[in-house]
Amino acid sequence: MAKADVDWSNLGFSYRTISKRYVANFKDGKWGEGVLTEDANIVLNECAGILQYCQEVFEGLKAYTTKDGRIVTFRPDLNAERMEDSAKRLEMPAFPKERFLEAVDQVVAANKDWVPPYGSDASLYLRPYMFASSPVIGVKPAEEYQFRLFGTPVGPYFKGGAKPITLCVSDFDRAAPHGTGHIKAGLNYAMSLHPYVMAHNNGFDENMFLDSATRTYVEETGGANFLFITKDGTVVTPKSGSILPSITRRSLVYLAEHMLGLKVEYRPVKFSELKDFAECGLCGTAAVISPVGKVVGKEETIEFPSGMEKMGPVTQKLYDTLRGIQLGTIEGPEGWIREIK
Ligand SMILES: *Cc1c(COP(=O)(O)O)cnc(C)c1O
Repeated sequence: MAKADVDWSNLGFSYRTISKRYVANFKDGKWGEGVLTEDANIVLNECAGILQYCQEVFEGLKAYTTKDGRIVTFRPDLNAERMEDSAKRLEMPAFPKERFLEAVDQVVAANKDWVPPYGSDASLYLRPYMFASSPVIGVKPAEEYQFRLFGTPVGPYFKGGAKPITLCVSDFDRAAPHGTGHIKAGLNYAMSLHPYVMAHNNGFDENMFLDSATRTYVEETGGANFLFITKDGTVVTPKSGSILPSITRRSLVYLAEHMLGLKVEYRPVKFSELKDFAECGLCGTAAVISPVGKVVGKEETIEFPSGMEKMGPVTQKLYDTLRGIQLGTIEGPEGWIREIK
């Protein structure tokens, strides 16, 4: 298939309609057959559950072209499992893992000309999601749902290399204890928009959210988990029931321990410890790791020794290892790469 006529290296992170997407409907207590469609629009009843009570969950992953020209996705089985967990928490019928993986394969295969070439640092971002499609006015779970999966080509997250970003400690909370912080749902993002806009207006790149019960422990940003590196090279990542379990973070921590021989600590991390760390990064599918140079708190500003010019050395090593696995230049653990035929 000929590549689409796109300037791959100048793509941003924005939506663009491409050829085919996958759709399946849940009706009469079961998921119907999925189809690929060219129709990017959805017609919904005015009272659909998603529009009234926000019953929606989503995922995000990417398809890449490897150095040897294969098209691959990275650990899509974990996205499938996480989406099942998210759906259960919102009383939605889980979309079966095997079908999720088939949908990923089908959409990527049908849009191969939209998968950016190796070397562009761009990728085909995939967005699986499901929502309540039938009318609901009395508060209860809907009876019908739709699962969709579309792709959109996105450029390198950082053009011209990753520059460290500056965070502020938010006055707002992201997730309540025993709430929905651990699932990937649009509702967690709706309420993060105001703090996000505030942070931007105040000149910051992102918010650091602390635990809402005590405001003592580090949780995450609006859409990425934290990794810290101690001065003696240990990788530390916060543990909390209200953090979204990032697949990137779980993968990096695994590589740190099993491939790079680093010590790893998965534990609650106090905000007051930040000043002792050497490096800080944010992990997620979008950027893999965004280095953090500075965190501005209420009383103190933490400037990590890695500085504002480049990623710290351990963060860089983690980044290079994961990117190498995704792009096929480093052999990763078995089953991490799913090739699309
Ligand atoms: C999606 C998401 C992440 C990153 O998860 P990945 O699986 O690594 O992409 C982190 N935090 C939140 C709140 C998210 O929604």
